[in-house]
Amino acid sequence: MLARTDLRGSTPTLAELRRALPRGGTDVNAVLDTVAPVVHSVAERGADAALEYGEKFDGVKPASVRVPAQVIADALAGLDPAVADALRESITRARAVHADQRRETSRTQVVDGGVVSEKWIPVRRVGLYVPGGNAVYPSSVIMNVVPAQEAGVGSLVVASPPQKDFGGWPHPTILAACALLGVDEVWACGGAQGIALLTYGGVDTAAADTAGGVLDPVDLITGPGNIYVTAAKRLCRGVVGIDSEAGPTEIAILADSTAVPELVAADLISQAEHDVLAASVLVTDSIELADAVDAALVDQVAQTKHRDRVATALAGAQSGIVLVDDLEAGLAVVDAYAAEHLEIQTADAAAVADRVHNAGAIFVGNYAPVSLGDYCAGSNHVLPTSGSARFASGLSVQTFLKGVHVIDYDEAALRDVAAKVVTLAQAEDLPAHGDAITRRFAGEVTSR
Ligand code: NAD
Repeated sequence: MLARTDLRGSTPTLAELRRALPRGGTDVNAVLDTVAPVVHSVAERGADAALEYGEKFDGVKPASVRVPAQVIADALAGLDPAVADALRESITRARAVHADQRRETSRTQVVDGGVVSEKWIPVRRVGLYVPGGNAVYPSSVIMNVVPAQEAGVGSLVVASPPQKDFGGWPHPTILAACALLGVDEVWACGGAQGIALLTYGGVDTAAADTAGGVLDPVDLITGPGNIYVTAAKRLCRGVVGIDSEAGPTEIAILADSTAVPELVAADLISQAEHDVLAASVLVTDSIELADAVDAALVDQVAQTKHRDRVATALAGAQSGIVLVDDLEAGLAVVDAYAAEHLEIQTADAAAVADRVHNAGAIFVGNYAPVSLGDYCAGSNHVLPTSGSARFASGLSVQTFLKGVHVIDYDEAALRDVAAKVVTLAQAEDLPAHGDAITRRFAGEVTSR
């Protein structure tokens, strides 16, 4: 069922290995021409333009961009108690993990009288994009809001597309998740216009419950979205900070002959369920396992609800089975691939996981599937895609903090190093830099 890449008996270079591995992707450049006018209009005309584009792309115009407090309260009141309970559990676990990520100020006594500290200051105002085109993602509300709150971000706004079926407001489960998290500023605005409005702000003349309906611009935007959202993030980057450009989701499973084929197949399918472009990749040194997983896929795909989407994703060039000689070669493959989600289903999985260098998140053994991480492990599910796990991290408290150096030297400490600063300034042909030092010591300092 899955295409195979057979690397057995070969020793590819890293470049050859990267080329050989199944990999998909989307061409964000292809939609920049569609998205640029949207971003420019919203930058110029604010909320009015955003509402117009919402009507065009989402087929509905909400009564105001800002969702009234009563609508959010009603969404919480109407939430299925079992879903509310599960969301609370997810929030509690995510809070526990993200609270432990907080960073302390470091203070380094460089010399007597000379101290450099690094303070971690939360970003002032953050916009959290919650997708709402094809599916509802209350879990994404949690994964964005919790680390921002634990970082100490003071001002949070959630933006999500208006829904035709819900009077133009975002999906009620998303609103209810916001209420559970204490987020009271929610905008009914999605896609590129949502990203642009978060970036440039505006005035929502129709806002029912806000003084003047001022939509303040944010300093940082986080959260996943489709190709239009990603293209808008690319265009707005610089005016605003962004977390990443998320590509289609992906799972790689490193498995040996001890893995359970039915579980491997189930996890490959669970990822393929997201998107026809989702990537599901098995890396194994066991041809018997590969055959058994293929057989299990045939059975399970036939029974799964979104079988067409799953089958398309599994048949795509981005999915497949990579056959390797042994575990060492398997580790080289998963490091070269740098999956958003990496499962280890081998003997002594924890020891194998310890040796992985590149992955957005690592799921160890048979009882830590990606689905657990999607909702209730406590870990974050917004993770680096498309191989960017080689250099990037998933969303965390760190995403919402800025490190600021504070330099505090007294006169003696500066005098002690003054000549060296002057020497370096002269070496860079920046004599005014040196003057700024020597003026403080009435010409006593010369370079050395
Ligand atoms: P979305 O909110 O990202 O996009 C919907 C918006 O796209 C609409 O509001 C509309 O304004 C805009 N749009 C649609 N067609 C357009 C067109 N032709 N031209 C211009 N704009 C257009 O919701 P989505 O489409 O469901 O995509 C969500 C994405 O986020 C999926 O790819 C999903 O896999 C991903 N996701 C990732 C994570 C994660 O943690 N990595 C979590 C949840 C969702």
